[in-house]
Amino acid sequence: MRHLLSSAAAFVAVALVTVAAQENIDTAMVGRIKAEGLQRSRASALYQTLTDGIGARLTGSPAHTQAARWARDRFAEWGLANVHLEPWEFGRGWSLEKISVEMTSPRYMPLIAYADAWTPSVTGVVSGRAVYVGDRTASQIEGMASQLRGAIVLTHLPQAEFVDSDRPQPGLNDGPVATGNPANPTARSTTPIGDLLPVLRRAGAAVALRPSAYRDGTVGVLGNRTTPSDAVPSIVVAGEQYNMLARLAASGASGVELRVELRTRYQEEDRNTYNVIADIPGRDPALRDEIVLVGAHLDSWHTATGATDNGDGAVAVMEAMRILSALGAQPRRTIRVALWSGEEQGLLGARAHLAQHFADRAAQDKLAVYLNDDPGSGKTLGFYMEGNTAAKAIFDAWLAPLKDLGTTRNIIEGIGATDHVPFNEMGLPGFNVIKDFDAYDERTRHTNADYPERMSEDELKQSAIVLASFAWHAAMRNEKIPRVR
Ligand SMILES: [Zn+2]
Repeated sequence: MRHLLSSAAAFVAVALVTVAAQENIDTAMVGRIKAEGLQRSRASALYQTLTDGIGARLTGSPAHTQAARWARDRFAEWGLANVHLEPWEFGRGWSLEKISVEMTSPRYMPLIAYADAWTPSVTGVVSGRAVYVGDRTASQIEGMASQLRGAIVLTHLPQAEFVDSDRPQPGLNDGPVATGNPANPTARSTTPIGDLLPVLRRAGAAVALRPSAYRDGTVGVLGNRTTPSDAVPSIVVAGEQYNMLARLAASGASGVELRVELRTRYQEEDRNTYNVIADIPGRDPALRDEIVLVGAHLDSWHTATGATDNGDGAVAVMEAMRILSALGAQPRRTIRVALWSGEEQGLLGARAHLAQHFADRAAQDKLAVYLNDDPGSGKTLGFYMEGNTAAKAIFDAWLAPLKDLGTTRNIIEGIGATDHVPFNEMGLPGFNVIKDFDAYDERTRHTNADYPERMSEDELKQSAIVLASFAWHAAMRNEKIPRVR
């Protein structure tokens, strides 16, 4: 048995060397990248500025623009070329100026509550008995018009199902992996919300409250940028707290009284938002027009600090560019960084960039590869290979000299829902890093609990080193990364 096992191990070792031998690994450069990234890292300081200093970065908000200018200025400081903000039309922005949701009867209690993005303000301070309509039909609600005028309305049923797990973790075994966003439970109401909101608006309701589906005070909040400015203002309350309010309101007797204050502001002056672009120019006359693109979305939702979604990814690509620039890297192809906006509204910044720069076949031929850093947190384990077996063999070779930093393996499966997807839709090779999903789905992504404590300094350093090394090898090999079609 022992003999058989050691023979199998020897066979595997030979096979790995053979795969690696087909690909030229620049071990000297990998060593220099590790030294710069481990010993002179700026990743932690960048992360602190982005999360603590600037905070949430909703696309179109002043904070997102501040973050984009800050990143642009760092790229300029590090000596990158072609540093600029690339505008694309997004529409009106939105920011939150004040929110306070309190229970005042049967006792005082502050509530954990956040406004949907792009929701309008509540006029003045509204207080009074909450009206619960979560279990009412549309015709019943129509009949409650006199109670609804100026009212604080509990629109949904108590939250019965909660988000209580993360998606399966890739990278731990060799079996097929289910990837992509998990199907999370959502708030439910007897009258569908699309039918309910127009009724509330006609009745002149002051504000609509609904439950978050996350546990333990975690509040998941998104928002629709096409929300009309005369919509009923909309607030999400921590699930357990909403359930308490709904039970008290439904129990008759004294009910529950609330006080709500909400002030929001639309940004109408500049309808553009901005991707941040910068280059390390290629030096090979035959290849320098080809682009190795590394990117991450800089935008976030608005309730916390956008740390795991996606401050960590943005910092990884920024620090990767800093490392390469600090080493005086002279790649054959141009290495370009893109920090996208509008990812959270539908991968819009990446789509705008593709429309602006890669619309025709000749331009598409100039893209060597796109490397994206988004979902998950912690260190980078490898890449999702989107079914591209030829690319996987190359990436496997590039990953090998990074195993001492905790990379594990590339997996052949793809992952959806982030900025490499529109590249793949055009037949271009775009790949996303594999990270851990430890509390990412259950706790931090798109919630009021997305704070930088989920990333360690070592993990930030490691992520940047992996991207820098991959970008370097992609910029130096003779051929572009193979297309699937
Ligand atoms: Zn997201």
